[in-house]
Amino acid sequence: MSRLALLLLFVAPAAALSLEHAPRPGGIAVIDVGDTGSERPAVYLDDRRVLVFEKDGRYFAAVGLPLDAEPDAGVSVTVNGESRELEVVAHAYREQRLTVKNREHVSPGEEALKRIGRERKEIDAALNGFRDIEVSEPALTAPVEGRRSSSFGLRRFFNDQPRSPHKGMDIAAVEGTPIEAPADGVIVATGDYFFNGNTVIVDHGQGFVTMYCHLSVIDVAVGESVRRGDVLGQVGATGRVTGPHLHFGTYLTGTAVDPALLLAQ
Ligand code: ZN
Repeated sequence: MSRLALLLLFVAPAAALSLEHAPRPGGIAVIDVGDTGSERPAVYLDDRRVLVFEKDGRYFAAVGLPLDAEPDAGVSVTVNGESRELEVVAHAYREQRLTVKNREHVSPGEEALKRIGRERKEIDAALNGFRDIEVSEPALTAPVEGRRSSSFGLRRFFNDQPRSPHKGMDIAAVEGTPIEAPADGVIVATGDYFFNGNTVIVDHGQGFVTMYCHLSVIDVAVGESVRRGDVLGQVGATGRVTGPHLHFGTYLTGTAVDPALLLAQ
């Protein structure tokens, strides 16, 4: 059988899923990993556990594909110890050039760099958590109403200096707009971070994590359980921003994926 035919077998889900199979860098590969007659399969991307949910008698894995995944190389996962190659389709993300007035936010000094390093560890730990609970097909409601920019994946330049790509969606909303949990979960981090400003991170189970940045007010505490619709905080303009908006990040296995793929249409 050709490599293409093999790939098609792996990636064509028979059940009616709402989650779109979008095998691009920063996208989500949705793969059928067996029927539900047996135990939930263990799926790994490198050594990291991947989310598996059940629908219509089948198990599916939702694999977050890194923004720097190479389309030529593809991505391999293991399902119950057996390796599977996933196709990655190239996607051209646009460039964005921004002027940031606070120079410290573009070229941080030594003290700021130390702070950023500490915060990075705390944030990464929260984004990479894996709570092994049963989860349903990942789907989110909008955390705030507002114009959603298609800004995920933008290759950014701040004052003409290249920076890491944009790993979330910016939603325009006035300062003070309540931000609602888009699904049930547990608060795993809150803080006032150098770049992200006031931030809340919510763990929805099996490595599915969402992040809310630049808040004016945080209304939740670490360890608290939230239900879909509970208020997490308010839209603000804290951290590295050009104006009030919500930066909304969605992660699978610690990998930033395009929130648009997870928002119910
Ligand atoms: Zn943003």
